Amino acid sequence: MGHYELMMETHAKRQLDVDVLIAGGGVAGAAAAAALSPLGLKILIVEPKSSHGRRLAGELIHPPGIDALKQLGLLDEDCTIGAEIRGFTIFPFDADNEHEDYVSLPYSEVEGLNHGGMAIEHQVLKDHLLERVKDFPRVDVLMGCRVSQILPSDQKNTYQAVVTDDSGETLINARLIIGADGPMSQVRKLTGISHETHRYSGMLGVEVDDTHLPTPGFGNIFLNPLGISYAYSVTKGRARVMFEILRGDDSKESVREHLKFFPRAFREDIEKAMAQEKPLAAANYRIVPKSAVHGNVALLGDARGCCHPLTASGITTAVKDAINLRDALIDTQFDVQQALRRYAISAGRVQLTRRTLSEELREAFLSHTNEAKLLNQCIFSYWRNNPKGRAHSLALLSTLDSSIVSMGIQFLMVVLQAFRLLPAQFRDGNLGHWCLSLVKLAYKSLTIPQTAFQHWLRERHALAD
Ligand SMILES: Cc1cc2nc3c(=O)[nH]c(=O)nc-3n(C[C@H](O)[C@H](O)[C@H](O)COP(=O)(O)OP(=O)(O)OC[C@H]3O[C@@H](n4cnc5c(N)ncnc54)[C@H](O)[C@@H]3O)c2cc1C
Repeated sequence: MGHYELMMETHAKRQLDVDVLIAGGGVAGAAAAAALSPLGLKILIVEPKSSHGRRLAGELIHPPGIDALKQLGLLDEDCTIGAEIRGFTIFPFDADNEHEDYVSLPYSEVEGLNHGGMAIEHQVLKDHLLERVKDFPRVDVLMGCRVSQILPSDQKNTYQAVVTDDSGETLINARLIIGADGPMSQVRKLTGISHETHRYSGMLGVEVDDTHLPTPGFGNIFLNPLGISYAYSVTKGRARVMFEILRGDDSKESVREHLKFFPRAFREDIEKAMAQEKPLAAANYRIVPKSAVHGNVALLGDARGCCHPLTASGITTAVKDAINLRDALIDTQFDVQQALRRYAISAGRVQLTRRTLSEELREAFLSHTNEAKLLNQCIFSYWRNNPKGRAHSLALLSTLDSSIVSMGIQFLMVVLQAFRLLPAQFRDGNLGHWCLSLVKLAYKSLTIPQTAFQHWLRERHALAD
């Protein structure tokens, strides 16, 4: 660290050679540095924020993400900075305001997951990871600096980066440049990788006493037509509560409505906390970049793409991206261009499955169409009646299974539940709606393999550019 600071202060025309430049000291940046340090590479992380301020963002980490963080040496076996999460409890929308019929998706039902996940307050997590990675061999971290330019270098299809801080600019020559700079990635923009963006909604979050958390030890998810709310312990005695605020909705009014569906004692705790503390705010985006790589630049974590936080898989995916990139570099003996092609394919598959899953679940939970309502009922019927179905769903949610084919099969299995619901639909005189909705859902289940194929073609096309 001292070495780089000195160079940046004393050289009039500053240049620096490293093996890997990482833009962003968040989860993806820290994980990338931890993954690549054992390969003997000289790594520089640049992070604009001198210290991470409080921010509403990812905190729930699925077991594969915890395993990956431990494997990278970023979390200890007996880690005490967060709270254990044993799975999820989902409270369906219930206009009568009863909460007995929630569904549990415990990790213990999933083959291959032999421990729980964790929730760690976002700032605590980021600070912990960055502090930890600073001690890795050959890793330097420059705070208060940002990547401000990406320039073509003398070598074909290779870029250099300019890093800016208060004292000026430094040209960085790196064999590999990693954009781990979040959903609004500058590296992505400066490299000319286009992307599609959709802003779903906003999110408000507070920290409260966790005494009355409805299902302690689980990620509690409350569904209602105004959006999805989440509640889970983040450390001993404290819980995070987040409310989704749909576009155009008044946030105070929306929170009031969300709270009507919370158990009374917990609702009162939340109201007390909200009266004392200004909630943190965030936005929920879907961002799909055209490619994950270009030349010697690779995008990781949210820079590589993000989706609605419903699946709570952003952190786990960011850490997996780092591991996928490391493995691609090892397999190709550090042939950067070839390694990045491999990385783009593996990371793209994980991303496609989690994005498709989050979109389908969000549609089923929030859309008001007849087929979405039927899909919603089918999902709960599947989860209530089929332990294997629960396990498959949680394997997909947790990224343990990141195959789009598995997702397509599960979607079909869920849709088949419609036949279980047929007698009730018949009784209620909904047969017409049921038939039409079933046809639409059956058609949709065919579009999942089609989406996968289109994705594959797009990825090939982007890599050929
Ligand atoms: C409301 C909400 C709830 C969520 N809940 C969950 C959850 O429960 N579980 C989960 O797994 N995920 C969740 N996510 C997603 C999760 O927060 C992200 O996937 C994760 O934080 C991505 O980490 P990252 O390192 O890629 O990006 P970030 O955490 O955004 O880090 C990017 C870093 O890059 C730095 N940077 C920016 N510009 C530059 C530049 N020009 N040069 C250098 N550095 C730069 C930034 O300062 C920042 O530190 C949630 C997201 C939201 C919005």
